[in-house]
Amino acid sequence: MNRKRKACAKPGCPEIHTEDGMYCKLHKRAHRREYATTYAHLYDRQWRNESKKYLRGHPWCECQECREGPYRRKANCVDHIKAHRGDVNLFWDRGNWMAMNVFVIKTKYFTSFFNMQ
Ligand SMILES: [Zn+2]
Ligand SMILES: [Zn+2]
Repeated sequence: MNRKRKACAKPGCPEIHTEDGMYCKLHKRAHRREYATTYAHLYDRQWRNESKKYLRGHPWCECQECREGPYRRKANCVDHIKAHRGDVNLFWDRGNWMAMNVFVIKTKYFTSFFNMQ
């Protein structure tokens, strides 16, 4: 697959990147950190309990690569398919949940994932 080259969405950043999402590698990381801090209050004990329950019913990583590839990684966290941006309904909508492997999230995706550890 040929990835599209695009300019980083961070104002003033000259980087042309091929990442998923709007930001270059560096700013993607910064943005995710910001996201995690902003919505940290949503990822409380209830989230941890509910996401653990969810993983019991969804033991395998549901990312495209794992679904289509020869190797399936074990899921060990729940991510949101559509970024919830603080929307509580979207946050708790099981239809918007996706079992994923933490490694896949960290290396491949910019998502709403918040590190639970
Ligand atoms: Zn950038
Ligand atoms: Zn996967």
